[in-house]
Amino acid sequence: MKVRRFSQFRSALAFITCFGAAGYLTTQSQGSEKPNIIIINADDLGYGDLGCYGATRIKTPNIDRLAKGGRRFTDAHSASAVCSPSRYGLLTGRYPLRKNFWGPIPLTQPLTIDPAHLTLASLLKGAGYDTACIGKWHLGFGTQKPDWNGELKPGPLELGFDYYFGIPSVNSGPPFVYVENHHVVGADPADPFIYGKKSVTQQYPEKSGYAGIGGGKEAHELYVDEMIGTTLKNKAVDWIKKRKNSKPFFLYLATTNIHHPFTPAKQFVGTSDCGLYGDFVHELDWMVGEVLRAVEEMKMTDNTLVIFTSDNGGMLNVTGQKARKAGHAMNGALLGYKFGAWEGGHRVPMIARWPGKIPAGTTTKHLISQIDLAATLAAIVDRPLKEGEAVDSVNQLQNLTGSSKMPVRKTLIISPNSPKHLTVRHGKWVYIPSRDEGGFQGKKLGNHLFAGAAALPFSGKSNSDVVNGKIRPDAPPAQLYDLEADPYQTKNLYSQHPETVSELKAILKGYRTKIPPTQPVGWINLKQKM
Ligand code: CA
Repeated sequence: MKVRRFSQFRSALAFITCFGAAGYLTTQSQGSEKPNIIIINADDLGYGDLGCYGATRIKTPNIDRLAKGGRRFTDAHSASAVCSPSRYGLLTGRYPLRKNFWGPIPLTQPLTIDPAHLTLASLLKGAGYDTACIGKWHLGFGTQKPDWNGELKPGPLELGFDYYFGIPSVNSGPPFVYVENHHVVGADPADPFIYGKKSVTQQYPEKSGYAGIGGGKEAHELYVDEMIGTTLKNKAVDWIKKRKNSKPFFLYLATTNIHHPFTPAKQFVGTSDCGLYGDFVHELDWMVGEVLRAVEEMKMTDNTLVIFTSDNGGMLNVTGQKARKAGHAMNGALLGYKFGAWEGGHRVPMIARWPGKIPAGTTTKHLISQIDLAATLAAIVDRPLKEGEAVDSVNQLQNLTGSSKMPVRKTLIISPNSPKHLTVRHGKWVYIPSRDEGGFQGKKLGNHLFAGAAALPFSGKSNSDVVNGKIRPDAPPAQLYDLEADPYQTKNLYSQHPETVSELKAILKGYRTKIPPTQPVGWINLKQKM
């Protein structure tokens, strides 16, 4: 098997990216059918990337329609500002810090989720569901190191998924193949995968991209960037159409849209007003529309809970910079980007639709994390969590249904890529125990990793610690923001509220003790690398 596109550029990119009310529950779930559950987890989709979240240069009619039929969350967070730990948190209901998990994992990483831990899949499989994971995995395989030429086990199937098809790692890096259940699709024992081997397309670049080498049966020929969205959509739709009404299903669809490289299928190129960035979102919207159409055709809409979200905030890479110049703000007015501790890194779109159960066309500003899906789904299927299961997850069913006027969750720990920037949210306050956002370190326009204080002037945003794109020498050592009064984090109140700082520091200190003394998983010291 050839290591396709193991070019210096892309491999480098791959490396760095990579019903609190029990009574209510009982009355809701008893005597009613368990709903089908679809979670669509987009990749790097920012808070401002959807029409229903304010985008104007990008049109997302299908996702907007989903929001219109359900509830939109304006203070929803991924567990981490980075792909892999974010997915770990969503699937397990555990903070990534419990695994010492900070960054995107390399190809050599074994499975990051302990099969003994509860996952959304094992929870729902245990409740009688058919389960499938389709799309980007990026959580490792195997117990030591993935065997790309053999059995990729344990993997999604050992965590409760009946079926898996997708991208094993990330679309910006090798192995550039699909995996189905335990094996690479089209793997050829006569041409085995070798770590670091040069790709054929590196020698024949004219065959990459739209020219494609697709159409063959060999693993890398089956994988064509511009067809990933279509392929995953087809697999998801086919799987849904094979379901029977007698058994509920759980589909976790993790798209590669809109992670770089931006490779929408031809029919979407040029359809947005902000270049390939927007075109790739358009393809994502089409995928969502097709999946919802399949549910509709199966006459399952009324008994299907659909949750749409993203694994982390938008990234100001070169394609993103072009979109910004065209008037698109990927994270809306929020400060910061993917990988970072500021809101733009981890406050993400979240929409939940469940006709008759979730009030249509509503929004909620109550704090919620993807970590909370485990306890919430457990409540929906009436399967109480046991001691040690999904330990950081909070049941948010009341927030979904709108039956509570108060936030269900007050405190939330959020992991950026930098452990020094481990962030705590407590009510309206957010505390970041260091300066800047601690994410990507690109300092100039045109840099793939443009972010942080340096990117503020270009982004048209301001922060009291920053002057001319640099942290002021006399800026406080850490950051405190009042998100109620200042949602866009323009004013660091660290010096004005020492008592609040102490209180939040103490909460953080308690959680730091839960970080195991093991080798950090996926952490990249970006400062050293730049
Ligand atoms: Ca991501």
